[in-house]
Amino acid sequence: MLEAERKQGQFPLLEMSHLLYGGKDQFDRFLERQSFFDDHPMFKVNHDFYNKSRQDQILLNAERTVEAMKKLSLADPNYYTPNVLCPQGIFISTVHYAMVIPAFQVLASDEQISKWMTSLKNFSAFGCYAQTELGHGSDVQNLKTVAVFDKQTSEFVIHTPNIEATKFWPGELGLYCEFALVFAQLQVDGKGYGVHPFWIRIRDKETHKPLSGIEIGDIGPKMGYAVKDNGFMSFDHYRAPLDSLLNRYIKVSKDGKVERQGNPKVGYGSMMYMRNILCDQYTKFGGRALAIAVRYSLYRKQFKDDNKQEIRILDYQCQQQKLFPLLAEFYACVFGSVKIKELVNENFNRISQKNDFSLLGLTHAVLSGAKANYTYFVSNCAEWCRLSCGGHGFAHYSGLPIIFFEMSPNITLEGENTILNLQLARYLLKQLQHVVQKPSAVPEFFKFLSLETAKFDDVTTIESLITLLGLNCANLTKYAAQKLMSHPDMKESWDTKSGIALAKAASTFIPYFNMLCFLDTINNKAKETKEILTVLARIYGITMLLNNMQGLLLKNQLSSQQIKALQDTRESLYPIIRVNALCLVEAQGLSDNSLQSLIAPREGDVYMNMYNFASKENSLNKQQVHNGINYIQKMREVNAKL
Ligand SMILES: Cc1cc2nc3c(=O)[nH]c(=O)nc-3n(C[C@H](O)[C@H](O)[C@H](O)COP(=O)(O)OP(=O)(O)OC[C@H]3O[C@@H](n4cnc5c(N)ncnc54)[C@H](O)[C@@H]3O)c2cc1C
Repeated sequence: MLEAERKQGQFPLLEMSHLLYGGKDQFDRFLERQSFFDDHPMFKVNHDFYNKSRQDQILLNAERTVEAMKKLSLADPNYYTPNVLCPQGIFISTVHYAMVIPAFQVLASDEQISKWMTSLKNFSAFGCYAQTELGHGSDVQNLKTVAVFDKQTSEFVIHTPNIEATKFWPGELGLYCEFALVFAQLQVDGKGYGVHPFWIRIRDKETHKPLSGIEIGDIGPKMGYAVKDNGFMSFDHYRAPLDSLLNRYIKVSKDGKVERQGNPKVGYGSMMYMRNILCDQYTKFGGRALAIAVRYSLYRKQFKDDNKQEIRILDYQCQQQKLFPLLAEFYACVFGSVKIKELVNENFNRISQKNDFSLLGLTHAVLSGAKANYTYFVSNCAEWCRLSCGGHGFAHYSGLPIIFFEMSPNITLEGENTILNLQLARYLLKQLQHVVQKPSAVPEFFKFLSLETAKFDDVTTIESLITLLGLNCANLTKYAAQKLMSHPDMKESWDTKSGIALAKAASTFIPYFNMLCFLDTINNKAKETKEILTVLARIYGITMLLNNMQGLLLKNQLSSQQIKALQDTRESLYPIIRVNALCLVEAQGLSDNSLQSLIAPREGDVYMNMYNFASKENSLNKQQVHNGINYIQKMREVNAKL
């Protein structure tokens, strides 16, 4: 039924697939990994999974992690492709590989790395990242767990002084890990040295029970993340050896001398690692949701046209309005993430090879903004795809709820998005200052801040849209700066007077950045690929402006005619996307098993799929008369007495 749609595609599918995966080799490797999951019985789509208890889901996920490990290196971030990460919940190894090991690599001394790295990699030292506490998460400097140095024994006494200091949320802590990277306030001789990581054993090697002086457990059910054992942990004067402190940047000697060394800014490195994965890999979940929603919108028909033919819902302009801007945004984020990955790698290379920190500030700022922007996109995209599929989108068998549940926490973890936008805002303000005082110091990506005005014949070309997005962000940054300065106390102003303006300014930077990356990707492509990408880029740019053009309106830099032109142009581009929509989502090369959706197979009868699941596989129907019926009798009895 979809074959005719497929044939309508106006661009070479394979070239697009290579673009989406960063090259032919990467795409081929993705297909190879995907076929492993497709062929393995344990990873076959099974929607009755969601009828299982959390206990059973956790066990099945553990079994699946082992099977995946037999074949794939889960330590390699290139393997964090959608189906690997999220068969029906995130694998057990994720935090260990994506957070603990990178933190170790950055914060541990060479001796500590050679002592631990083999056992970290082969899982004999399996750890969690225990930073957040009940009372504090974002405000890391204010954590309350203490590590007090005891001169008599040359040990650290790790202690949870009150309930709010209880470690809370670390993934893989609740049930599994034997070690933890515990972030605590270092105190030596009554003096505080700030928060530092301590690598400590928390469970017994033989019995797996928490060691004496440590209480551990799972925090309970959450919105999604059912298979993940996010945990809590408290310490009662637990003694940890001297070398538990990861000591690349701070050393405590046996007799309590504290010595700082190297550039502690490198500490940002481990956060960058995970944020880069969030941008590079997790963004693909948006594409997965779109593949489901677009295919379903082609299968689904509602109401008839004048010829009494039922209309595919993707033909409705309102349905296109729900999906096509998101499709354009997906492509924009993927192309943006390629540039970000290059930036992060270049930054690490400069630091490790030349001790050159010149790219750190820029990389941190762009990555902070992108993590916020892309994770909002994925969650928003999953929700709108669900809504676009009507009733069936609400069912687990659509494959959409799991994407929303597993992806929406990314807005909060690894740097809460508002806080990250505020960090980008700080960098924008610094560059704004440079624009006036030292223009040569402004990095290329931020030169737009000098824009004051712009004139266009046509506001809807890619070049005009880039300028408009830059001008919008520049105006909002200047507005935020004025707000900030209009109050005598800068800190108070930042926290209580100008936060909204600052966060807003920052949130408009990534759309500008993404458009630059989009343009870069379009150049030098084959004609047909270039044409369809240009359409997507224009839809993306227009949508970003229409969603947030406050900066331009503040200075009357966009007329009502121009706004109308933006709206009309976007609508006029939808028919081109309509013809190519199926190919644009199928360029991701996702198999039916990867999509995990009964409503969006490559070919098939979606209604038969759903009916078969409900009537044959849904385990709730296995018992012909359910025990719950006893309560109906009780309800009748209660009602009879009324
Ligand atoms: C699924 C999941 C997995 C996690 N895994 C781990 C893990 O493995 N290890 C670990 O250590 N932690 C983990 N966490 C915890 C996570 O890192 C924190 O929840 C996160 O950093 C946000 O901190 P918070 O909860 O303190 O939020 P808060 O900072 O309390 O945020 C609450 C609200 O206050 C606002 N806010 C706070 N401060 C400011 C400010 N200065 N300006 C403006 N607004 C502000 C925020 O924007 C937000 O709207 C996990 C959390 C989740 C949900």
